[in-house]
Amino acid sequence: MFGITPVKTGETCLAPGPSVAWWEVTARAKIPLSPGVSAPPTGFLTPLRAVEWLPAARVRQLEKFGIATVGDLLTHLPSRHEDRTRFDSFPREEGGAAVCVCGIVAKTASRWLGGGRKMFDALLREENGHALSGSLTCRWFNAHYVQKKIAVGQKLIVYGKPKRVGKQIVFDHPEFEEIEPEEEGQGTQETYETPHLQRIAPVHPATAGITPRDLRGWIFRLLKEVQGPFAEPLPAGLSRLPYLEALRAVHFPQSQEALAAARRELILGEFFLMQLCIASRRTENAARPGQAHCGPGRLMEAFHRQLPFPLTGAQSRSIAEIRRDLAAPRPMNRMLHGDVGSGKTVVALSAMLLAVEAGAQAALMAPTQILAEQHYLNFKRWLEPLGVRLALRTGSRKEANALPLFDGQAEDAAPQIVVGTHALLYGEEMERLGLAVIDEQHKFGVLQRAALLRGATAPDVLVMTATPIPRTLTMTLYGDLEVSTLDELPAGRGKIITAARDASKLPDAVAFIRKHLDAGRQAYVVYPLIDESATLEAKAAAAEFEKWQALFAPHRCELLHGRVPPEEKDAIMERFRKNESQVLIATTVIEVGIDVPNANIMLIENAERFGLAQLHQLRGRIGRGSHKSYCILIHAADTPEGLKKMETLEATANGFEIAEADLQLRGPGDLLGTAQSGLPPIKIGDLLADAGLMRLARKAALELFEADPELAAPENRHFRSLLEARAREATAAT
Ligand code: ADP
Ligand code: MG
Repeated sequence: MFGITPVKTGETCLAPGPSVAWWEVTARAKIPLSPGVSAPPTGFLTPLRAVEWLPAARVRQLEKFGIATVGDLLTHLPSRHEDRTRFDSFPREEGGAAVCVCGIVAKTASRWLGGGRKMFDALLREENGHALSGSLTCRWFNAHYVQKKIAVGQKLIVYGKPKRVGKQIVFDHPEFEEIEPEEEGQGTQETYETPHLQRIAPVHPATAGITPRDLRGWIFRLLKEVQGPFAEPLPAGLSRLPYLEALRAVHFPQSQEALAAARRELILGEFFLMQLCIASRRTENAARPGQAHCGPGRLMEAFHRQLPFPLTGAQSRSIAEIRRDLAAPRPMNRMLHGDVGSGKTVVALSAMLLAVEAGAQAALMAPTQILAEQHYLNFKRWLEPLGVRLALRTGSRKEANALPLFDGQAEDAAPQIVVGTHALLYGEEMERLGLAVIDEQHKFGVLQRAALLRGATAPDVLVMTATPIPRTLTMTLYGDLEVSTLDELPAGRGKIITAARDASKLPDAVAFIRKHLDAGRQAYVVYPLIDESATLEAKAAAAEFEKWQALFAPHRCELLHGRVPPEEKDAIMERFRKNESQVLIATTVIEVGIDVPNANIMLIENAERFGLAQLHQLRGRIGRGSHKSYCILIHAADTPEGLKKMETLEATANGFEIAEADLQLRGPGDLLGTAQSGLPPIKIGDLLADAGLMRLARKAALELFEADPELAAPENRHFRSLLEARAREATAAT
């Protein structure tokens, strides 16, 4: 037994209808048919209503799930297959994976259990040649429809998990299917072919009223009746099977190898479409008019000389990569990614100084006010000696700085570097914007990024993210960007020790923190938001504060959350930075960017409520000075995923490892956010397991665009139509 996508046993659902598919485009775009082929009686676009042998009531039901055409139904793929050429033998023991067996119903019974519950059971006997051996009991509770369907003497295929009850082996609520006598009787004759038996049979996601058996029968027949023409979804070099053959084999494979090959073909089709979108974006970006924005580098070198530390190798390498892009007349489209604390800010400012020296303006956009202001303060310290004009622009205020002119050459007083939140997007003073840096890119919507880039000539763009992205995903998620990676932390960083403890250990943790506070260190206490409402949140925060202040007195605690007014926030941060307060009680507003090296302890309450990546981000606030740092996760995790999360954090502080683990735990869905990215959804493929196919698809898509950027060649025209349809669909979705 092997599945296409893992679906929980007994789960009954139909997937939502597919989005635009290549065959629709083929039809809409009226791709010329091969000569001599006339319009087919049943094509992919034929509505199911027009297929006269399908029961009308069922068709209406399917339509509710978005399955309205022959193509929709044929791409409703099986969630697993059952090898019905050789059934498993009856299990004698409990446990293990689900098995698929075939047997004769020897006895049925139903009885009341009390509490209005009714149990129906069927005793199944194994048929071994002529000798009967083995038996098992199938049980259903409160399932009247089952009772009506099962009778003594029937032959049943049953799929379930064996469980021991007393002396018996029992399947509770197994999936089952009756074998019709005529199928059985003629199954051995070569002229008779049933979709249900003597083969590797697909099991499709089904729903009440429509059984997997119904779906299998319909799809079997449709696969025989459907005819082309279609343009193949893969370029010739990539494809090993015609599409229709692959589709047939994914439903009704001749062998496991055939299934794997067909699956490869369909996944590749899906991935290729995605990479086609990405490649077309790249091509578009490259075609936008841009300018070179790169000074000789003296200003940047002066900045580097000021730094109290040497650059890491990774920083120097990234700066060199960015510099090459800045010097080219094309618009830069680059992502800088690296773990928290890897020193992205220095790289960003270096790039900005190169642009400023070339006479352009540079902007840095941060996701929160706190972060924007912190960048601003750092920049001010660094830029004042260089004489670069700096301005801050956030939603709540505007603070222009009249600093001496750089080099005595600029004739206007417009800022050369602007730091801000997305309020930046609405500013007027960015007329000569040459470089836009977006910090913590994952916090911004795609649209905001796009807004920054409107305007006659495209500025160079550098996006930065502290969420390390597994390599398998970068080529998808950020496939239209060049990538620079900071894979090296600055030397001399204190180690972070992480311990996950349950709530009973809180007093120990408090004592431990006190000890460090007494020794002159500072600490963060992070708690999750309890409620979205302003009054409740303020109340909860106030209660938190009272609690911690009492525990840590006489050390001073301060409270920081999303609803503290901006001026007060500054004052709080400033006092913490100056060690006038020792403990910062905070919500996740401190998640990104805050940098206080003397703070070396973090306690996170209800850690199980945070995501893995978020916990890692939070933890990145410590370990910034030379002191050994400690992260204490107080948690009430009781699920395997929750515990795995805690274990992962204890085991590693490497952001890339954590990102991989996160991907395994949550699946790539969240990370990808395809809805937001405007990319087509991935349905069959697995971004982790099928990463090799993604690479293949990517290479092919890039090559296709390189050879034929307009996709004008006859064999490529349907790809063009596909992209246009995709773009229309994405626009309609926003
Ligand atoms: P992030 O990549 O998380 O944005 P930052 O840019 O905030 O990291 O840098 C974290 C801290 O490391 C800052 O205090 C910064 O000054 C310091 N830093 C940056 N580069 C180096 C380096 N090469 N050596 C030592 N410290 C560095
Ligand atoms: Mg940062």
